[in-house]
Amino acid sequence: MDIVCGTCGRELRAEDEEKTWRECRICKKPVCLDDIHYIGVWRRGLYRDYVEVIPVCENDMPRKRR
Ligand SMILES: [Zn+2]
Ligand SMILES: [Zn+2]
Repeated sequence: MDIVCGTCGRELRAEDEEKTWRECRICKKPVCLDDIHYIGVWRRGLYRDYVEVIPVCENDMPRKRR
């Protein structure tokens, strides 16, 4: 099964996950490290809330400010 970057269409190898690409945590598409973005999201913890940093693709970025 071919894996391609969900943003630029570059071909990726399954064994290179974490090295050349990561999976978008929102849409689950593979995204190469050139196109990946990291966002902080609030998580509700047992005792207190905390920020988790997750990889997301361009499409799932929060709306950009101009
Ligand atoms: Zn890409
Ligand atoms: Zn995505």
